[in-house]
Amino acid sequence: MHLDVLIIGAGLSGIGAGIRLAYFGKKVAIFERHRLPGGLNSYYHRNSLSIDVGLHALTNYAPEDDRSAPLNKLLRQLRLKRSTLDLCPQTFSKILFPGATLRMGNGLDVFRAEVSARFPKETAGFDALCRRIAETDSMSLSPVRESARAVLEQYISTPLLREMLLCPVMFYGNPQMDDMDFNQFCIMFQSLIMEGMARPHDGMESLITMLLQRYRELGGELYLENGISKLRCENGHVAEIIDDQGGRHTADMVISSCGASETAALCTEEQPTLQQCGVGQMGFVETMFNLDRSPKVFGLDACIIYRSRIPQFRFRLPQEGIDFDSQIICMPGNFQGCDDIPAANSVRMTVTASPRWWMALSPDKYKEAKRKAAESLMNLLDEVAPGIKGAIKAWDMFTPKTIYRFTGHCNGAIYGSPYKNPTGMTNCDNLRICGTDQGFLGIVGSLMSGCVIANRVM
Ligand SMILES: Cc1cc2nc3c(=O)[nH]c(=O)nc-3n(C[C@H](O)[C@H](O)[C@H](O)COP(=O)(O)OP(=O)(O)OC[C@H]3O[C@@H](n4cnc5c(N)ncnc54)[C@H](O)[C@@H]3O)c2cc1C
Repeated sequence: MHLDVLIIGAGLSGIGAGIRLAYFGKKVAIFERHRLPGGLNSYYHRNSLSIDVGLHALTNYAPEDDRSAPLNKLLRQLRLKRSTLDLCPQTFSKILFPGATLRMGNGLDVFRAEVSARFPKETAGFDALCRRIAETDSMSLSPVRESARAVLEQYISTPLLREMLLCPVMFYGNPQMDDMDFNQFCIMFQSLIMEGMARPHDGMESLITMLLQRYRELGGELYLENGISKLRCENGHVAEIIDDQGGRHTADMVISSCGASETAALCTEEQPTLQQCGVGQMGFVETMFNLDRSPKVFGLDACIIYRSRIPQFRFRLPQEGIDFDSQIICMPGNFQGCDDIPAANSVRMTVTASPRWWMALSPDKYKEAKRKAAESLMNLLDEVAPGIKGAIKAWDMFTPKTIYRFTGHCNGAIYGSPYKNPTGMTNCDNLRICGTDQGFLGIVGSLMSGCVIANRVM
């Protein structure tokens, strides 16, 4: 078939691009290799329940009347009413380090007050840092790379506070170890700390279903369980697109959301622009624990806890398995109005993990490694909430191997390549990338990335 635009991948960026293009009357089709849409933020069914793969929270939560907030801009781009997202704001979250805790709420005020109360000497520096972040053009098309750690040192003199600021930001969007690109830091700091977090009440399945319904109403086509296996390129032009079932297509434009190096691998001609982004390295293990009662009973009353057991936050891959020194702990039922959701009695835990180690395990050893990791994570959870281990009825776990299997991302990396490609350009005149490797992450970020690239190709 011939299309105006063919989109590779029905993750959030592919769906965002699809809605935008279909709205403007383009003949557009999305090809998705997996059985279900959603990519890194998908869902699966177990015992007739819909379970989220990755959802902790929608970041970039902002009041409805803030017209310049990314969330509200996105809704305008997609022509969606805000009520369709059914957002439940966080009550509070916290950053928990040895000897210090900082509470986070929606909007900067709560967090700023916490910083002032715990680190009074740092108030002026923190304000100046926030001004610098607000003024940074983090999506510049010719970005200057600066170390986030080095910039933070210019404003904050207490090492513990610097580590506490880096912890949630790195955990939710840093594709590299130890340090972070300052532009990427700004994007994440704004979305998490200056703006805030909310949970779509019914989770990802209903959000994705609503988005795809909109896409289809506008005339967009979606092919599930049929990925793209080859982009036949001729002299810097995608001349033909071949799908997994052998179907051959042509398109004026191809938008790929499957990653920079993953897209390069589909092309029959070299793609230096995509190859220089590099392959994603950071791996994570995500575990869901189902309890026989609310986690609040054990004192877990925050929505999300970003925890380091050591004063210097370590964001790097462990030699083996998983890192035990820092975790994200999420309680989905603690978001406002979410005590009635099926996941209300669950706790999700995220830790950094070595992709190479997990990928190399044989099926038997893999099963055993998951069991041992779950046992260790239960003990870690029990450190934070004594007694909770005895209330755990069941658990499920995703490793880099699972992510690779279901999304095809090299190394099972969630945050993609360390070097982003803000223009989305490639070495083919009719091929663009969108999504994680373009530079926007998360639910709002990846939907927005799809819209931005769709706007550029129209
Ligand atoms: C465990 C976990 C927890 C997370 N928690 C949150 C959270 O709480 N809040 C938040 O905002 N974000 C969260 N994220 C991040 C968020 O999910 C991602 O940033 C976002 O979903 C990325 O979307 P994307 O469209 O760029 O990429 P993807 O979701 O990876 O989409 C790419 C799609 O392309 C498909 N594909 C790959 N190769 C091909 C091919 N050759 N042909 C056809 N299709 C192909 C894949 O199957 C996939 O569906 C989390 C991610 C994970 C994994």
